[in-house]
Amino acid sequence: MLYKRSSQLFAEAEKVIPGGVNSPVRAFKAVGGTPIFVKSAKGAYLYDEDGNRLIDYINSWGPMILGHAYEPVVQAVIEKAKLGTSFGMPTELETQIAALAVSMVPNIDKIRFVNSGTEACMSAVRLARGFTKRDKIIKFAGCYHGHSDSFLIQAGSGAITFGSPNSPGVTAGTAKDTLLAKYNDLENVATLIEANKNEIAAIIVEPVAGNMGCIPPNKGFLEGLRQLCTDNGILLIFDEVMTGFRLARGGVQELFNITADIVCFGKVIGGGLPVGAFAAREEIMNYLAPLGPVYQAGTLSGNPLAMAAGLAMLQALDTDRAIFQRLEEKTAYLAAGIDKVLKANNVTFTINSIGSMISVHFDAAPVVDFQTAANGDNETFKKFFHGLLQEGIYIAPSAYETWFITDALTYEDLDFTIRAIDKVSKTF
Ligand SMILES: *Cc1c(COP(=O)(O)O)cnc(C)c1O
Repeated sequence: MLYKRSSQLFAEAEKVIPGGVNSPVRAFKAVGGTPIFVKSAKGAYLYDEDGNRLIDYINSWGPMILGHAYEPVVQAVIEKAKLGTSFGMPTELETQIAALAVSMVPNIDKIRFVNSGTEACMSAVRLARGFTKRDKIIKFAGCYHGHSDSFLIQAGSGAITFGSPNSPGVTAGTAKDTLLAKYNDLENVATLIEANKNEIAAIIVEPVAGNMGCIPPNKGFLEGLRQLCTDNGILLIFDEVMTGFRLARGGVQELFNITADIVCFGKVIGGGLPVGAFAAREEIMNYLAPLGPVYQAGTLSGNPLAMAAGLAMLQALDTDRAIFQRLEEKTAYLAAGIDKVLKANNVTFTINSIGSMISVHFDAAPVVDFQTAANGDNETFKKFFHGLLQEGIYIAPSAYETWFITDALTYEDLDFTIRAIDKVSKTF
């Protein structure tokens, strides 16, 4: 397959947009080459500017769980747009989507809508700090909570050292309030809490990690976090921007029957428009302005087009209860097929998957945290990525990303993908 026009368009983009992209993950930095420019998408397929059709396993990094250009979402947006695109005043639509979300997700009374997952996580942490009157937070290495300052922190040298910023522009003052822990390591978390007694406002976690490949929590990990939080007056924040309305109707809280104090949403909840949200029980949410002292706002928050898209998406997921089962079966089928061909071709690999999330790691050891995810062989991944691109299959251009299975994918698409992986992995 040729990607000539995409390369030309990228060269033009680079002149006026830093790195040619509006979000760094879209660039092909980790794999080499130049990004594909999309013209349109429908169902399971992307159509690029060179006229290629690609089977899409990124799906806008998660939102398009029912496939691209899902008709009820498209119709809802078109109809709303005719009535005006933004008012900065309340609409009934906001109450409708809020009520539906509250009915689908366990243990939340109120929800506030924002414009991105980043905003949701940033606001959730501010709310937790205001509510507990404490400053510090614990996050896990390899978990992504958007690009706000508090979250761009990497490991210090020891388990109890303060985090150091991993982006210029994040101040040392901000970094010192973010403590870094190891995913799936409860003892590490307990040690951090002990060393910072009565100073920690919140633990924020991807309850199923998806930003270092897909890493499900070990048995007891989330239960342990819940207990540590309860025992120490710490709020547990589930960042379900990726997993919310994806792994179950009610997200990971429902899937594993564990209660978080604040839950963050993004991606699926917006049906492909820019939406984030955070939610909690009433006592916590009432701390937000205008009821309470914690300030949080947004000119375009609750935007009618975004809310129309989100509502149509949530209604679809609420109505067809078999969706999550279907997604899980497709993912398991794909995982089994990939496992078979990679083994037959003597490739060293590990597959992680849960629900509609799956990732292939080119390392034999179990992938349970950031360190083990980083051990994967990136040279093999590059060959894998570019090989699949030649076969018309689009996975994320980084070994640290999860693939998303959509309801639009057919078993023929999955078989085609497995055959392509067989072919490509023979060249490793
Ligand atoms: C994508 C993501 C975010 C950030 O959401 P944006 O809409 O890109 O700002 C936050 N947390 C998790 C777990 C994510 O996957």
